[in-house]
Amino acid sequence: MSVDASTRAEPVALSWRIKERPGFTTVEFTGEIDENADFGELRRRLRGPVVFHLAEVRRINSCGVREWVNFVRDLPGVTELTFSHCSPAIVTQLNMIYNFRGAAKVRSFYAPYVCDACGHEEEKLLDVQNQFGQGAGGGKVPEYACEQCGSTMEFDDLPERYLSFLAET
Ligand SMILES: [Zn+2]
Repeated sequence: MSVDASTRAEPVALSWRIKERPGFTTVEFTGEIDENADFGELRRRLRGPVVFHLAEVRRINSCGVREWVNFVRDLPGVTELTFSHCSPAIVTQLNMIYNFRGAAKVRSFYAPYVCDACGHEEEKLLDVQNQFGQGAGGGKVPEYACEQCGSTMEFDDLPERYLSFLAET
């Protein structure tokens, strides 16, 4: 979890937005998960099927991991938990920390792609069920054409490492 001090952006405190949908609740998280994260109110409030939208969680430090793990493993009112739009920072934790997801199912996540021809980088949203579920092409990473030059983009990490959390799904 080392971050180069020279490229380190100002920390953004964690916040969330709760949206009640017919039959379920979504919680959109934004910012960083660190020792200041306090999930107490959220824990008491959440009921029924819940989807955590995690695209805007850009960094998690080791204290934050502990807070998060304690949070997701003790959600007494939640009947079904789903992680959606997991950012690369979330994927990294899913791969390293066995109980980071608690009882959650991962629905979708972002993966880094890069174009070797022109250097264009992009995070692509991958759907677990459609792209890695049973009968979905044997778990291969999907290919994308570069929006800048049309060349085929490369998966910008080791797929067997970046996608290792899928084995637990
Ligand atoms: Zn390109």
